[in-house]
Amino acid sequence: MVQATAAVVWEPGGDFIMEDIELEAPRPDEVLVRNVASGICHTDVAVRNQDIKLPLPIILGHEGSGIVETVGSAISHVKPGDHVVMSGDSCGHCRHCHDGQPSYCDEFVERNLSGARIDGTTPARHNGNPLLALFNGQSSFATHSLAAGRSVIKIEDDLPLELMGPLGCGLTTGVGTVMNALKPPAGSSIAIFGVGTVGLAAVMGARLCGCARIIAIDTKPARLEMALELGATHVVNAATDNVVEQIYASTDRGADFSVECSGVPVAVRNAVDCLARPGWAAQVGATPGGIEIPFSMDRMGFGRGIKGVVLGDAATQTFVPYLAELWRSGRLPYEKFVKYYDFADINQAVHDSAVTGEVIKPILRMS
Ligand SMILES: [Zn+2]
Ligand SMILES: [Zn+2]
Repeated sequence: MVQATAAVVWEPGGDFIMEDIELEAPRPDEVLVRNVASGICHTDVAVRNQDIKLPLPIILGHEGSGIVETVGSAISHVKPGDHVVMSGDSCGHCRHCHDGQPSYCDEFVERNLSGARIDGTTPARHNGNPLLALFNGQSSFATHSLAAGRSVIKIEDDLPLELMGPLGCGLTTGVGTVMNALKPPAGSSIAIFGVGTVGLAAVMGARLCGCARIIAIDTKPARLEMALELGATHVVNAATDNVVEQIYASTDRGADFSVECSGVPVAVRNAVDCLARPGWAAQVGATPGGIEIPFSMDRMGFGRGIKGVVLGDAATQTFVPYLAELWRSGRLPYEKFVKYYDFADINQAVHDSAVTGEVIKPILRMS
């Protein structure tokens, strides 16, 4: 057993409460990581608020970065002392895992969105009682993570470890959706709805792909400013402008591609309505559970379609180190929209990002 401190969600919408917990020693396919930092992602807040329903109490957090302490007997890709980023877990033996698409693993939901191992047990205890952990293979809002081995990704030692955690979710999702799922050819146009971390990562991904016109859509002027700084060529304020008209005006024929990161139903509709012929929309933002969104068939057909994308269609064990190299060479400068907080200030960090929206990517420092 390892003693750790974790931020626990006990009730829907409640504050994160610091608790002393115990973690089991790693099983053969698990890794104990001493967390250095963890990003906070919108999904953590959505579970806290129970917009995404997982059982409580639970330890959330899924953009952890840290140093390996001990590894299970079957782990060979990392060793104690390695610097690592954590991403989602997958089984490693289903068809989609073999095809390099772990986010479509047959066991993805059970492994990442249950808070338990596939056998129903959990590695964490609070006052002797089982406590749900292993959220996205890691539950990184804690000083230590008992992580699923396949969620642990080695990165180079000289990278700034406390900045690297968001590569495991937000950056992989945004850049990967453009590079892996849409693959826009150089010279094409792309509209990106919602420029928080994922949308801004999509903007940077589109720039790297050579997109000629990159249109960012949001309701917050400060975020549109950041999108321009990172490579957007046009911005549209959805609070004041006719979004689809503006996208047509800045592309002549509609957008060849779109990425919807907000999950707001009207934005999902606009992400389809703005498409050229042909055109592909990628749906990334989590929409409210159970809703239906109508589309005009006048805006479908002629080679247009919409595709749901999880974790940027990325083979995370290779994509995360690739993103780290892009950051190192100045081609993924997401530190521009990061703000650091002490782990103890997690509730303030959630407030500043999810309630007021003044901070785009908060990162908690555990040490
Ligand atoms: Zn996330
Ligand atoms: Zn699998």
